[in-house]
Amino acid sequence: KKITIAIDGYSSTGKSTIAKQLAKALGYVYVDSGAMYRAITLYALENEFIGSEKDNIDALVKMLPYIKLKFELNNATGAAEIYLDGKNVEKEIRSLKISQHVSRIATITEVRQKLVDMQKKMGENKGVVMDGRDIGTVVFPDAELKLFMTASPETRAHRRYKELLDRGEKVVFKDVLENVQNRDYIDSHRENSPLVRAEDAIEFDNTDMGLQDQFERIKGMALR
Ligand code: C5P
Repeated sequence: KKITIAIDGYSSTGKSTIAKQLAKALGYVYVDSGAMYRAITLYALENEFIGSEKDNIDALVKMLPYIKLKFELNNATGAAEIYLDGKNVEKEIRSLKISQHVSRIATITEVRQKLVDMQKKMGENKGVVMDGRDIGTVVFPDAELKLFMTASPETRAHRRYKELLDRGEKVVFKDVLENVQNRDYIDSHRENSPLVRAEDAIEFDNTDMGLQDQFERIKGMALR
């Protein structure tokens, strides 16, 4: 029987890597909820609702109903990629610049409402692995398996730093560490569905754990 798997936790704890592997192994759909917040942030930057002189959050909120987001399978890689108003933005949304604005955008009630509604619909048929910050608490409170991933901030910043370098982005480690810590702070302190471990989520600290080891353990939990 197919279940719903919710994976929450701090930034760069390897949630998406595990979620993707798990979905593949179980034949489930993987949904990267963070990509949706990132795409809205890209939209806000492109339209200069943020990032220039003065923020215009009201204008962003007014446009929300017209912003089209969808995931589509990349046939070459088998991975779902996100589209903003018909354009594939999967790569663009991973930049440090987007990371520096996204947590503020994610505090906006109307943004969360729109995205949470979409996420709930995507999970209607079970067989879903979704990662994010409020999946076990808000999006799928009834998920059969909930994980809460943690790791030391330095470990996480190193992972993210390496990822950004691999993508060819010129970044300094200090900025990446600062961003990881800032996002954790904003995500855990916002009024709307802050990042907290759901009571029934299993905490998983992977500071000193290899990917294969994590994957095997979590897969075991999913099949139990
Ligand atoms: O998962 P990722 O790091 O791509 O998420 C980017 C940001 O989007 C998070 O730092 C958080 O501010 C926001 N987010 C959220 N709720 C989710 C997923 C992401 O608030 N379910």
